[in-house]
Amino acid sequence: MACAIGALIMLALVFAFPFLGFSTHGVGHVMRFADTAEALLGDHYGVLALVLLATTVAFPGLYLAALVYLCLGAGHQRLPGAIPLARLLRPIEPWMMSDVFIVGVLVSLVKIVSLADIHIRASFIAFCIYSLLLLRTVTLIDWTALWDAIAPAPEPDMTAHAGASGRSQSLVACGACGTPFVAHPRHRCPRCGKRHHVFRVDRIQLTWALLVTAALLYIPANIYPVLSTVTLGNAQPQTIAAGVLHLAESGDWPIAAVIFVASIVVPVSKIVALAWLCIAARGRPAASLARTRAYRITEKIGRWSMIDVFVVAVLATLVQAGTLMSIEPGPGAIAFAGVVILTMIAALTFDTRLLWPERAPGNAS
Ligand SMILES: [Zn+2]
Repeated sequence: MACAIGALIMLALVFAFPFLGFSTHGVGHVMRFADTAEALLGDHYGVLALVLLATTVAFPGLYLAALVYLCLGAGHQRLPGAIPLARLLRPIEPWMMSDVFIVGVLVSLVKIVSLADIHIRASFIAFCIYSLLLLRTVTLIDWTALWDAIAPAPEPDMTAHAGASGRSQSLVACGACGTPFVAHPRHRCPRCGKRHHVFRVDRIQLTWALLVTAALLYIPANIYPVLSTVTLGNAQPQTIAAGVLHLAESGDWPIAAVIFVASIVVPVSKIVALAWLCIAARGRPAASLARTRAYRITEKIGRWSMIDVFVVAVLATLVQAGTLMSIEPGPGAIAFAGVVILTMIAALTFDTRLLWPERAPGNAS
């Protein structure tokens, strides 16, 4: 809990001080963290502002505050709102991206360090500490102990029997509190009340729909510029691929590689991998483990694609030197953010039980 409180204090400090300083040819300005959202809103990129604030501040802030409240109230009988709050925590985790944002800031700095003087200010340090404490908090949580303190585990369901798969008996483990129970249609978890779906093959259609939409959105994300650099009135639009090439040409190989992997390799391989998993879902049981591993990797790495979106947000806010030089976001950035979000949701909707086909009766172990 100390980590969570520390992270919340650091988050408050992030808003109290300047974030980064920028100056070129005697013209410069100081950027605060909140300016990123304001600048994006001003450029009519409210969607990006919303994504940025939700993933770096709102979701983590809600997560930390809820956790502190639950830990403080642990042991109290009937803590108001404890169960709904606790149920929120696990689903929020993949959407907390303060660590991705820091990498985005560092990439932005490398991109403009040759054009201008950059000064790191107190708020950026506070943001890094906040992000580290947030990661530490997430890894330290003992979910079993937390749920035991909030709601006692119900009696185990005695109708389940060994020798048959959980899927054939409609057994599910609650995604929020981990309690195993038999899910009847429209059944709720006996411990936390979360509604569960019985195994449904047609759920794969939803994953397909999201994947196809993401694949279609990936086209405008690459055709339209993600940002344009305006130097003395001359606008130079830049697409994702052009950005990578430009970095590589100017010798920033490591950063070019990071952007290439995050913006091109990860989204494409994620769409291909999820499509492959959907098609191959009911293949040989021997490959189930490999497929589950492939799924876990896809699920984990997807959020890192957001780096390029954050780079656009930071550059558009920071590089504001009037007519001398400024950077504006492009429509490609919105399409790309859509791709990242849709592929993340597609991975979440994929039912991993599809990877573990039913064994023929008699083969059950
Ligand atoms: Zn539950």
